[in-house]
Amino acid sequence: MKTDTDLELISVTKRYGATVAVNAVSHRFRPASYTCLLGPSGCGKSSTLRMIAGHESVSDGSILLGGRDISHLPPARRGTAMMFQSYALFPHLSVIDNVAFSLKMKGEDVGPRRRKAAEMLELVDLTQLSDRMPDQLSGGQQQRVALARALITRPQVLLLDEPLSALDPFLRIRMRAELRKLQQELGISFVHVTHGQDEALALADEIVLMNNAVIEQAGPARDVFNAPKTEFVARFMGGHNVIALPDGHFAIRADAVGLTSPDAGRLQAAITGIEYQGTHVAVTARTVGDQDVTALLADRLFYQHPHNPGDRVGLIWDQENLHQLATDHNPTRR
Ligand code: ADP
Repeated sequence: MKTDTDLELISVTKRYGATVAVNAVSHRFRPASYTCLLGPSGCGKSSTLRMIAGHESVSDGSILLGGRDISHLPPARRGTAMMFQSYALFPHLSVIDNVAFSLKMKGEDVGPRRRKAAEMLELVDLTQLSDRMPDQLSGGQQQRVALARALITRPQVLLLDEPLSALDPFLRIRMRAELRKLQQELGISFVHVTHGQDEALALADEIVLMNNAVIEQAGPARDVFNAPKTEFVARFMGGHNVIALPDGHFAIRADAVGLTSPDAGRLQAAITGIEYQGTHVAVTARTVGDQDVTALLADRLFYQHPHNPGDRVGLIWDQENLHQLATDHNPTRR
């Protein structure tokens, strides 16, 4: 592992006038890994990314890359590169000249800069389209040009701001697989901002979930999904029920809840909704204590004992699948 490429945020704050967009955030990114900065709109993801890139000043705190404080360096001298959401290609430059542009700015001769640009285009599989103009490319192709243009600066960390949001759903899934593959081939860190939890789960080694200008939970994607620490995380990641029990609030995955006879379950409930989802059937039930709980059952299991709305059932689960939540009402938090 190349620990010298560690990106680290130390109590980084961003204020816009009276708005605190990022509030004393500290985080050490794993070297050579794919990290998704995830969270709802307005939680401070883009501000964090732009501060790392140097497109936004840091109000307080510092940003280190490989142990070096880069907080006040201009973007081009940080060792980072940003790929923007709006691809912002130069319309009057060919694909290869778009990719070579930053080298031209650095004063490199046309021969070497075109050779390096051609290498980058090969990396993103666009060699055939080198001489096209941006308006002759599909959205996905423009995206790959933007990627090549960011990578030509040989960054230690590639920063991506909602890179897939402008693509149609089919292309989005294809591009995300390409991004993941590219990150692994290059062996550098990618930090990718998204508000889509499915995108983050599909891509990330590590998820950093933000809410209200702070990190709510960070860790390997599976841990954040399987063991949410707060109600916010459980609800944002989805696929979970949040249940209030006598000893506290708990999250439990919907596919870890089962149905049994009314007198045998841990909670008694009446079915309020049944939704067929192909491989699964989502059964929603309201408990005697007026809590809505969803059980996600494999379709075969459901059709062995089909139910109807109004049926009384017992809800069962293994205790080990309950994750106690720290909520704002819970003094144990932090
Ligand atoms: P996200 O990327 O998670 O949607 P942002 O970092 O863009 O969040 O924004 C965080 C907060 O900072 C929001 O309340 C937003 O309105 C505010 N904000 C972002 N950019 C600016 C700006 N240039 N000027 C003033 N407020 C801003």
